Amino acid sequence: MKSPVDISITGITLQPEIPICQGDLPLDWYQDEFKPYAEEYMALPDRTPATVIPWLDSYIKPAQDYFGDSLLLLAHYYMGGEIVKIVEKYGGKVADSYALALQALRNPEKKVIVESAVHFMAETIATLANDDQAVWITNAKAGCTMEMMAKDWMVKPIEDQLIEKFGEDLLVISYMNTSGRLKALAGRTGGAVCTSSNAHLVVDWARKQNKKILFVPDEHLGRNTASKLGMDLSKLVLFPNPLYEGIDWDVNDIPGVDDCEMMLWGGFCGVHTVFTAEQVRWWKEKDWRVIIHPESRLEAVQVADGSGSTAYLWNEVMNAPAGSKFAVGTEGHFVRNLKEQAALRDIEVMHLADIEDNSMQAAAGCGCATMSRNDPPHLAGMLDLLRKGEGPDLNRVLAGDTVDEQTGKRERLNIDERTIMISDAKKALERMIQITEAAT
Ligand code: SF4
Repeated sequence: MKSPVDISITGITLQPEIPICQGDLPLDWYQDEFKPYAEEYMALPDRTPATVIPWLDSYIKPAQDYFGDSLLLLAHYYMGGEIVKIVEKYGGKVADSYALALQALRNPEKKVIVESAVHFMAETIATLANDDQAVWITNAKAGCTMEMMAKDWMVKPIEDQLIEKFGEDLLVISYMNTSGRLKALAGRTGGAVCTSSNAHLVVDWARKQNKKILFVPDEHLGRNTASKLGMDLSKLVLFPNPLYEGIDWDVNDIPGVDDCEMMLWGGFCGVHTVFTAEQVRWWKEKDWRVIIHPESRLEAVQVADGSGSTAYLWNEVMNAPAGSKFAVGTEGHFVRNLKEQAALRDIEVMHLADIEDNSMQAAAGCGCATMSRNDPPHLAGMLDLLRKGEGPDLNRVLAGDTVDEQTGKRERLNIDERTIMISDAKKALERMIQITEAAT
């Protein structure tokens, strides 16, 4: 049986006529070390692959020759521009967060791992990596806005209250989109990490422990998972969003906490919460099949034809018969790449929010802007600097690191703190892997 962490080649190819327009502009956003590469990139006469690829070759090929088989390039499906195509072109792998997380662990011969995605994904790879594997992120300031709603300093005061209230009866499930410090919190409470592809398995497992579950940080994935499992939704309690409502509140003042089955942290993904039930119905009335990511609102998920992780969305379309039509509710760059590949199989794909009636066009083509800050100059620069032995320390990712997405200021745990954090986070990650692999 094919393991869920085997990454197949997406087959996405660079189209000669489509420009590589991605860039982390303006120039002063770049770290000093990357500015020369960004300046060169911006000075190229155009952004077509015919121009950009030879420029990338001049940096990436020498690095590949230097590191040989010890180098592993990774990217997430949501990367914008053509970066996923570029990473695949240079032999790298493109995957969802679950498969990415396991790549160091499953490829011990890879010693230099360079990730083009958001920081928590690189940190998760680092948490599971061996000591002789170094994980680098091409842009350390590429954060996830959902993760920014559950920084450990936001969760800690509430965690303290919950532990005081429920003691050992508290079990935390941390979505993959959290820092390692929150994954460690899950591990400490006997809980697990989950992803959008296995959240139903993990929550189902957690319910059997007969504990009070805290699901952090995505309220929508938590609610959609509860609905998928047939749980009584009135037994869910929603916590305030710390970004908008602060953290100065008392869990005892939240109605229903004592009797609830699961507490949902009040975080969300701005990319996925634009989708509405009205949009879903609009496509369905035209006989399009609608599939949607479970970080979207329950009312939209409930009327869609199917819901699942990025891997599910990709496979659902690519395995459909020719002539099929899909409206897909997820990140815009992913949908654009899917649309291109599906067209080669005579399958039509549209972005769910991309509809003619402007009153319903919430955010056509909405993309994960933060993830896309890993642009071609960052990839070229990272590999060139690593080859020269000058990899910027800020881009080296260790478990427990947190980086301020605005200032780039990093906070790093000391070795003792990090050892404890890794041990706790690993427990939660390994529990997720056991639960998932037992079910596949
Ligand atoms: S799409 Fe949303 S949840 Fe995913 S990385 Fe981007 S901001 Fe985070």
